[in-house]
Amino acid sequence: MRTSTIYFYGGVESVTGSNFLLDTGGSKFLIDCGLFQGMRTAEDTNWTSLPYEPKTIPFLIITHAHIDHIGRIPKLVRDGFRGKIYSTEATKALAEPLLYDAMELLQHEAEWRKLEPMYEEKDITQSMQLWDGLPYHKSVELADDFSFEFLDSGHILGSAMVRLTREGRSIIFTGDLGGGNSPLVPPTESPTGAEYLVMESVYGDRLHDETEEKRNTLENCIEDTFARGGTLLIPAFAAERTQDLLYEIRTLMVEKRVPSMPVYLDSPLADKITAAYLAYPQYFNDEMQKRIASGEHIFEFPELKFVKDASESRRIGEMPGPKIILAGSGMSNGGRIISHEKEIFADERSMILIVGYQSAGSLGRRLVDGAKVVQIRGEDMPVKCHVSAIYGYSAHMDSEQLLEFVNKMSDSLQEVFVVMGEPASSGFLAQRIRDYIGVRAITPESNSTAKIDL
Ligand SMILES: [Zn+2]
Repeated sequence: MRTSTIYFYGGVESVTGSNFLLDTGGSKFLIDCGLFQGMRTAEDTNWTSLPYEPKTIPFLIITHAHIDHIGRIPKLVRDGFRGKIYSTEATKALAEPLLYDAMELLQHEAEWRKLEPMYEEKDITQSMQLWDGLPYHKSVELADDFSFEFLDSGHILGSAMVRLTREGRSIIFTGDLGGGNSPLVPPTESPTGAEYLVMESVYGDRLHDETEEKRNTLENCIEDTFARGGTLLIPAFAAERTQDLLYEIRTLMVEKRVPSMPVYLDSPLADKITAAYLAYPQYFNDEMQKRIASGEHIFEFPELKFVKDASESRRIGEMPGPKIILAGSGMSNGGRIISHEKEIFADERSMILIVGYQSAGSLGRRLVDGAKVVQIRGEDMPVKCHVSAIYGYSAHMDSEQLLEFVNKMSDSLQEVFVVMGEPASSGFLAQRIRDYIGVRAITPESNSTAKIDL
């Protein structure tokens, strides 16, 4: 039997920075090339040179368009990668505006910290030229007798698991796994027959709220803030979370479950991403496809206003409530959300509503953890506004769902590598896989390797 080696370069011992390399003996495939994110949009490690020689790698396969999975692609290309990049078609469409946005943030970060820019526009252009979009389930030959296909991971529009096969045996890199929490994308596929699994564990030790419960909580947060005349501020990732929330708020308003009030989408990026979503209707779930085909505008409603420039953003911040503002970044570590937060921290009528994973060290994480004072650029700010969290809007499987996902594959599985989680979360899931399913499961360390029979 032949052997391959997996190199765990990023997305281990933490959620972000997804970057794995499969060395097949005769070729090398990279899976994802994401940014490490924490307190800042980009941690120092992003600027250090890549731990492999980019020009020796013929293929890069991308699971989905979140920046912690794609954010270092232009750097890879700048440093000499000239191979092929593969993702689904929708991922490619979402990746382009997300990379331009990341480039701007990284340029500010680099200037501020007196570093070289990580990449420039030409590097993104060149990346897009090397990039092919594929539909799900199309098998593509790579090299060294390997082929691969994308399976729907149900996380964000176009998100995929990558199944790599040689001589009938296969390994699946899950990317991020949705848990049926999005009203928009199809359910996660349940693959079988793979020998190896490299899987995410963001919520490896946590359970989510039920769907109806989370909609009720959102409804209550909107009603309570309305009654107080405050602002409901929702930090949201531009890709998926924003579209999910727009859809949910639209539903609540159309059904008159909440009072009518202005809703501001203060994110030019989310605006572009929403347009890219609508350009790929075939990637939505069946119900949404039907609605879109019948002419329904699933993200539009009379109360929704798109905020274009920074001066308009400042104006809506100063406007009296009640109102709802959605802005990025999703972890409050940069972007327009920061000035809105500064505006409402002292306002007891207002609420910050956290709806997604917050990485350790981020401002969002400190808020969820109940900090009464937070620091922004060295300035102490007391937090008097309400802070609430709904985990059900997370686009990730929870602990039970992850275990069930592995269970369905248990007949063929030889080993599971639990990655993309904080250590406690990955460790907990790995333990449960061993105890309940009886399959070997480990949590690889950063920059470690594993040999597999494939
Ligand atoms: Zn993701």
